[in-house]
Amino acid sequence: MKILVLGGTTEATRLAGLLAARTDLQAVLSLAGRTSRPAPQPLPTRVGGFGGADGLARHLRAEGIDLLVDATHPFAEQISANAAAASTATGVPLVVLTRAPWQARPGDRWTDVPTLVAAAEAIGDAPRTVLLTVGRLGLSAFARAPQHCYLVRSIDPPEELVLPDARVILDRPPFEEDRERELMVRQGVEILVTKNSGGTATYGKIAAARALGLPVILVKPPARPDVPTVHAPEAVLAMIDHPATLAERGV
Ligand code: NAP
Repeated sequence: MKILVLGGTTEATRLAGLLAARTDLQAVLSLAGRTSRPAPQPLPTRVGGFGGADGLARHLRAEGIDLLVDATHPFAEQISANAAAASTATGVPLVVLTRAPWQARPGDRWTDVPTLVAAAEAIGDAPRTVLLTVGRLGLSAFARAPQHCYLVRSIDPPEELVLPDARVILDRPPFEEDRERELMVRQGVEILVTKNSGGTATYGKIAAARALGLPVILVKPPARPDVPTVHAPEAVLAMIDHPATLAERGV
């Protein structure tokens, strides 16, 4: 069986590790090419877009792919829509491997918002020190709230920093709670603004904010296409081993 994994997440890398250990499967990992130095991957890797849903469909046919796994980030809306459309067009089964969003626990002071723009507005009028971890491509939404002092964390430096009062920390997950708490205290962070991305690799900031009693503004993940979805890399392997669970899509 030939498998294409759309990646760019910790979960995709974990799935790649499981697939690499299976000599009966041929798998390739696909990355968008957003980060300049992607983490080493245990599978053969291709980098760059396919050219929309049609391009992805052509790739699936040309490479004789038997299963498409969408293990992209919960906020990567376009590639997930493309994967669903390409699966329908080609009949290649599609499985989504994604994280369940985080759920509030006692002590959490969360405000859920639908978009980055709503997050910028929810910080409020009074200037505050904000830990902003929404990815460097989402920063422009915060230009509408220039009164705040932003501590921006991203893997690669933002190409253009549109925020007048901002400091950038370059780092990549995983982020442990202790380190997150120390960062928040040292930098005088008053509020955390982030995406509700789920998973464990970046949960440390949520736990740290709870421990410090800090408010958190969380952008809700977008709705995903209606396709078979699992939350653990092992569950993808289980579906591969029981092909009846991989319903063929298409028209
Ligand atoms: P997006 O808006 O959904 O996708 C934009 C375009 O990038 C797609 O149409 C596709 O180009 C290309 N693309 C995206 N993921 C790809 C992949 N795995 N392999 C090949 N091409 C891909 O995506 P995004 O939000 O910019 O995210 C880009 C990548 O970063 C994703 O792989 C995602 O898993 C990862 N990531 C995203 C976030 C986030 O918050 N959005 C956070 C962490 C990691 P074509 O149309 O030309 O095929």
